[in-house]
Amino acid sequence: MAGGGTFREFPWEAVLRVRDDDPLGSEFVARLERTTGDRSVGVTDLVSLRPAFYRMLGPPVAMPPARQARIDQGRALHRLLGARLAREGALEARVRRGGLVGRIDLLTDVPVEVKTAGQTVEPSTLPAERPEHVEQLGMYCALLDRPVGRLLTLVGEAGKVRDVQAVDLAFGSPEKIYLEMARRADLLRAAWKAESVDGLPRCPWFGRGCEFAEAGVCSCTGTEPTSVPIPGEVVRIDSREDIRRRVLSELSEPFSFDVSGPVWRFREILYPRRAYFERVSPVPEGPSGRGITLEKDLYARLTESLESGPAGEVAVLPSRATEPMEEVVGFRGTPLLVRTSRAWQPYRAEELVPRAPQYALELGLRCALTGATSGYLVLGYERAETDRDRLQLLTLEFDTVTPFSRLLRERTRALSDALRDAAPASLARCPDWMVADCPYRSECGCGGSPARVTR
Ligand code: SF4
Ligand code: SF4
Repeated sequence: MAGGGTFREFPWEAVLRVRDDDPLGSEFVARLERTTGDRSVGVTDLVSLRPAFYRMLGPPVAMPPARQARIDQGRALHRLLGARLAREGALEARVRRGGLVGRIDLLTDVPVEVKTAGQTVEPSTLPAERPEHVEQLGMYCALLDRPVGRLLTLVGEAGKVRDVQAVDLAFGSPEKIYLEMARRADLLRAAWKAESVDGLPRCPWFGRGCEFAEAGVCSCTGTEPTSVPIPGEVVRIDSREDIRRRVLSELSEPFSFDVSGPVWRFREILYPRRAYFERVSPVPEGPSGRGITLEKDLYARLTESLESGPAGEVAVLPSRATEPMEEVVGFRGTPLLVRTSRAWQPYRAEELVPRAPQYALELGLRCALTGATSGYLVLGYERAETDRDRLQLLTLEFDTVTPFSRLLRERTRALSDALRDAAPASLARCPDWMVADCPYRSECGCGGSPARVTR
């Protein structure tokens, strides 16, 4: 079996039915044919162009521990938000216009940007005091072509939200903001192409702590120009006491969120022994992204086609547990898994499990975590010559997700025990197709055959 036959203790195949979803598949193919091939630029990149440049072309940079702790705390609060505010709207809603993309924290009647802070500021001073928050919100409004957005500031500390500020901001011209976004995206693409940061404005938060400055990667002095400010587009600011009260009551229960848990991603449940070695002896990341292509690869084209529908059609689904930390993305409310394959032929529905069990398992885990009983598998075939043959959509239906919940629970515990006891051999070994490229072969000695297998 291509998946290595490492899941026999979890009899999950009997609960699963796989079928080709022709109408939806055809809709995706039509979208794929309309993709532009341009590299997308995200809103967070447009707020801070130089870090976006370095993330693609600079050397790996360590995050200062204090900043990492703030990021972890922010993640925890966002996860909490997902669990408790899912009724309010779509979470992490994808929106795309032209080659510009955004993930809106919460899409209700307005786009909502959620921030965490040590304290709130007077609403009328937000454009001056928190320009990057206002700028990001303005960009989401521009992508949606809506004039009003909401800034939700959560004031929290270890496991508790103490206060919430909800403020609606109206922007004079979303179109003007969009044009400024397009201008910045052009600057960034040109800088990537020239492999030179010189034409990019410095960040608005210069001097307030930056990993690229601390690592000596970015040499900005503070005298460089900044971007044309978007906060100047704000024409009205309204405090929303009604929203503040509602959100505070939803979030006021204390919560626990352990970001140091053993499982971060679903693939760690599939391949726990590899996860063990990645955790105890991580392989350093590549030195830089120099030479990285600005053309879209197939995965990026698939993502573009999926996200090219109405805003919020692709959004994060609320999880029932805090692990894995990886989000479950849904399409029209159904869990979605997107993968590319080097297989020469598309899988017939009945051969998916024997030939590539990892896809069904990973989707099953995502369904178990979100309480869904079906999911979409989008497969992109890299060797195909036309878009029609390049994209396949399969629908997987589960009579029950109990075997996947069990797999999740038991492998989480096994990985945790193996890390504690330094005992990787106690973990299920990976399938044979992973052995050839595995950097841990000498330490692990799994005994797998390092033959290259086409998945
Ligand atoms: S050093 Fe300055 S311009 Fe460079 S990434 Fe940091 S804040 Fe931005
Ligand atoms: S050597 Fe084999 S079992 Fe061990 S981590 Fe690598 S692929 Fe997995």
